[in-house]
Amino acid sequence: MIRKLLRRVFRRDAPSRHEPATIPHARHGIDRALVSFNAKRVCETLQGAGHKAYIVGGAVRDLIAGIEPKDFDVATDATPDQVRALFRRSRIIGRRFQIVHVMMGPETMEVSTFRAAHDENTLKDEHGRVLRDNIWGSMEEDAARRDFTVNALYYDPVTELVYDYHRGVDDLKNKTMRMIGDPKSRYREDPVRMLRAVRLSAKLGLTLDPAVRAPIKELAGLMENVPPARLFDEMLKLLFSGHAVESLQRLRAEGLHHGLLPLLDVILEQPLGEKFVMLSLASTDARVRADKPTSPGFLFATLLWHEVLANWEERKNAKELPVPALFAAMDEVLDQQAEKLAITRRVAGDIKDIWLLQPRFDKRAGKSPLRMIEQPRFRAAYDFLLLRAESGEVPQELADWWTKFIAGDHAGREAMLLPDSGKKRRRSRGRGRKAAEGAAAPEAAD
Ligand code: ATP
Ligand code: MG
Repeated sequence: MIRKLLRRVFRRDAPSRHEPATIPHARHGIDRALVSFNAKRVCETLQGAGHKAYIVGGAVRDLIAGIEPKDFDVATDATPDQVRALFRRSRIIGRRFQIVHVMMGPETMEVSTFRAAHDENTLKDEHGRVLRDNIWGSMEEDAARRDFTVNALYYDPVTELVYDYHRGVDDLKNKTMRMIGDPKSRYREDPVRMLRAVRLSAKLGLTLDPAVRAPIKELAGLMENVPPARLFDEMLKLLFSGHAVESLQRLRAEGLHHGLLPLLDVILEQPLGEKFVMLSLASTDARVRADKPTSPGFLFATLLWHEVLANWEERKNAKELPVPALFAAMDEVLDQQAEKLAITRRVAGDIKDIWLLQPRFDKRAGKSPLRMIEQPRFRAAYDFLLLRAESGEVPQELADWWTKFIAGDHAGREAMLLPDSGKKRRRSRGRGRKAAEGAAAPEAAD
């Protein structure tokens, strides 16, 4: 009781509502080597012109947590036009929120002007979702409109001080994810914050504050009002965060996966494919963490594969021919998902390439394997096969055969080819029967 009272008293007057806490290096411990040189230059240039300028948001949070940030955002009291005038290679983007992209070497920094908090005049939809806000504000207001306390930190790379209005550094050190303001209304303003809570807490190993956690189950339905393209962006972030497995487990624990996104339903509610999907996500996580390239096409191909298999199986049971049945199954699954997932044509093409090559791994006779490894998408298809074997969908022996085949030189590969039962095949072709029963993908796809 007394403790509770003390806590309330403390909360009320420290840190002051107007002055941020100033955190010295000794406490935040940011490693300068992890700070982007270009981000520092942007801040220096702005400060040199008499403006305030700080590295802000996720980058500061990650730096304090000892994680190398993937991008650096800068917040300033300069207007977009003023920022634009200071950097030769820069441009103003965005309509709803005007920000400036400053290009420096290979890096693009997002520079945003401090934005005001919402007030009763802010335009919202009938559920409380904010529709428009582009009013510049003070640094304090800018901090107040951010979502979580750990995301509202401002780092001056010149003085190496961190400015903290909402005890974010404490929360980060105590491994707690706390909302700025009332979580329920902050979720209503922007339901995507529910996903962010889960994704960022998984990434940083933070525990959701009970007040952040409690309303999620009740408000999860609000996600339906979020434009699909925005949800898709969030999903991509989640899937390629390097912590996808952990994030999905947490989403499930919060009851957030249900009906939230069609893709998530696919991922989490297919018992057969779950092992396969989890292996794929774990391998994506490992690649992201090792800074290796990843491709949305490959990941989506794995996420939807068991849908395709089930659909294909049904068609074969209905006596459709295997090859056309596979094509039809692929198209149907992609059509169902592509719209909701905003999968681009190019990505859809990558996905199909990977799927189409799968049945051809069964063909180990004749010249087929030699042609197969010349396929432009062979490497991705082979990685896909490895996951299929690991999840138990195809025999490990098949994957091992291909691994050995790839490793061999030309003579070694020739020696591995199984005898071609050429006679039988020629005959069946001659009669114009369905081409290569066992090999679903036609040679025409070569
Ligand atoms: P990541 O590591 O995935 O980039 P992030 O927190 O940096 O995480 P961004 O989308 O880059 O995410 O956002 C940058 C900053 O903008 C956040 O740290 C936060 O301060 C603020 N922000 C982002 N999304 C929201 C939101 N939905 N509501 C309020 N503030 C937000
Ligand atoms: Mg970020």
